[in-house]
Amino acid sequence: MKTFCGRANPTTGSMEWLEEGEDYDYHQEIARSRYADMLHDKDRNVKYYQGIRAAVSRVKERGEKAIVLDIGTGTGLLSMMAASAGADFCYAIEVFKPMANAAVKIVEKNGFSDKIKVINKHSTEVTVGPDGDMQCRANILVTELFDTELIGEGALPTYEHAHKFLVQEGCEAVPHRATVYVQLVESRRMWSWKKLFPVHVEAEDGEKVLVPPSEMENCPGVPSVCDIQLNQMPSSDFSPLSDVVTMFSVDFSKPVQSASTYYRVQLEPVKSGKAQIVLSWWDIDMDPSGMINCTMAPYWVKPTSALQWRDHWMQCVYFLPREEPVVQGEKLYLTACRDEYSVWYNLQRAREGENKADKEEPEADVCVESPVCRCRAHLLWNRPRFGELNDQNRTRQYIRSLRKVLKTDSVCLCISDGSLLPVLAHYLGAKQVCHLGSGCMQPSRIDFYHRSNHLEDKIKIIEARPELLKPSHLEDKKISVLVGEPFFTTSLLPWHNLYFWYARTAVSTHLVSNVTVLPQSASLHMMIVEFQDLWRIRSPCGTCEGFDVQTMDDMIKDSLNFRESKEAEPHPLWEYPCKSLSDPQQVLTFDFTKTVPQHCLSTQGSVKLLRKGKSHGAVLWMEYHLTADISVSTGLMQLSNEKGNCEWNPHCKQAVYFFSSVIESEIQSDPTAVTYAINFDTKTGEIAMDFKL
Ligand code: SAH
Repeated sequence: MKTFCGRANPTTGSMEWLEEGEDYDYHQEIARSRYADMLHDKDRNVKYYQGIRAAVSRVKERGEKAIVLDIGTGTGLLSMMAASAGADFCYAIEVFKPMANAAVKIVEKNGFSDKIKVINKHSTEVTVGPDGDMQCRANILVTELFDTELIGEGALPTYEHAHKFLVQEGCEAVPHRATVYVQLVESRRMWSWKKLFPVHVEAEDGEKVLVPPSEMENCPGVPSVCDIQLNQMPSSDFSPLSDVVTMFSVDFSKPVQSASTYYRVQLEPVKSGKAQIVLSWWDIDMDPSGMINCTMAPYWVKPTSALQWRDHWMQCVYFLPREEPVVQGEKLYLTACRDEYSVWYNLQRAREGENKADKEEPEADVCVESPVCRCRAHLLWNRPRFGELNDQNRTRQYIRSLRKVLKTDSVCLCISDGSLLPVLAHYLGAKQVCHLGSGCMQPSRIDFYHRSNHLEDKIKIIEARPELLKPSHLEDKKISVLVGEPFFTTSLLPWHNLYFWYARTAVSTHLVSNVTVLPQSASLHMMIVEFQDLWRIRSPCGTCEGFDVQTMDDMIKDSLNFRESKEAEPHPLWEYPCKSLSDPQQVLTFDFTKTVPQHCLSTQGSVKLLRKGKSHGAVLWMEYHLTADISVSTGLMQLSNEKGNCEWNPHCKQAVYFFSSVIESEIQSDPTAVTYAINFDTKTGEIAMDFKL
């Protein structure tokens, strides 16, 4: 079946109709899936195997047949482990059709077809009985349905249903239990992902302070989980206010309830400070004794030597509804509320005169509703964007460059989503300031911010696509200064923000002939890197704990090559350390003082590999040249040191192009080089690249 999907091109802004075959979604899902990462997760695999062996033994010791239910079998891995451990029969359930098909092949290739039945259904559709999918209920329940937040992939309703309909009472479960841990911290860095800080501007007539809307003060934000590689957060960026405490546990061998509920613990701050953030992670015990434990604990809790890198399970950052000053030793209650799929947190002070003994039953009001943004800011700006807007260094660069280009008679138009530039331009003396929402995309209403700073009649918001801009929008004036960060919410890859160039081209007739454009130009940069760990997510696995999973590798490779266009993918590299193997190289430039040319922009060349290492791929990012001497980078923040360590912009995702074959450079006397060809098609806004090692 073919369907046509309409979408706005993120770079050019034009509407396109793409013909999407049924396969398209499959390939996207497989190519970007976490299956490879899970298969590379040695610690997880080994512990599942140990847990499964122990569970099969316990059942056999009772003289029973071992009948396994594996919900979400994926490649079939856990069922094959169970069969190898002596299970009599396994029902392997997988809802995602391409995976279920792959599981059938993998099971067959490994010689387990007579012991494992793959069922392509959602577990809640599975039937039990003589004519059912399963002959009888299972006595061993094996699953791996967890995300970083533990329950976000629907583990609770799946377990609830399985205990009611698919497994026997008193069954063995692998994992046996999961426990969620929390730690209360103060962190300006992480808090800057939720709250906008005041912005200070030195204006002609004294210092101006831009204040965030008061509604933001108590706004709970958005419910989506903030999951990050907490191991990349240096200890200097946060300050623990409590010990690590157990928040709640789930015993998977007993009936599980998925209905909304809450858990409460008492905390005594180990330090006075501002409670802002709850850091959280979980562990799973593969057996009842807790001897086989797989934990996501970060480096300061667990010795670094024992850390297993993984991207499919990370750690969570929860933002308290408001910042709460806490005093060392006082009594606090931390409440975790959850529904079927998500968790959120609340901090309360113990009321005076209340003592531990009668504190068993918390009041009914502790469980507040799932966070819903009331201030609108959390709908306009996502967490990295908050961080970017709060980055004072960055703001300073924009203020410095605006000051250089603005004059008292400037008519200024800003094209960027949810940007503070119009407000800065106003304070820095522009006569007239307009803000163009990106129109064809999401509305970029930022009027709540203008209102809180009494600027609603100072900055005109024009809700129109750039090509539909009319002289009347601008009160028949011509634009003398065109500004952009540029930033657009629809951008996924760094060069998608080149939409600014297309918008600039579309508004050309409204510009004075000697218009100033800020940024005046942009450049695309590239560097060859060796990843410490990220390579695993796209690297074939071959065998996993002795099982041949090459079928899965082939399937991923197929999907990556689908349409024969390998693409770069966005990753926030501050979370994924890498070593530079080449110098950064500027590969393309884009002149914003001119309109987008008709012809393609292309370049080719070679980069020398300067260091010993494995070339996993190329990293690409954009730099914006605000004025002749002021630039901002969305990628590399400074040249890497002699070891090749890199510091990346912490608010942006960079583009990563994984090479299909890795080369190991030995670099002694004879440096190797990587040749590249990069083409920016100005019609489609797409960047095609090719690398040869
Ligand atoms: N068990 C495999 C794969 C785990 S990934 C391993 O450990 O390597 C989880 C898989 O479960 C995904 O393939 C997803 O499609 C599937 N899944 C999730 N919930 C399910 C449900 N309720 N019924 C059937 N499949 C489910």
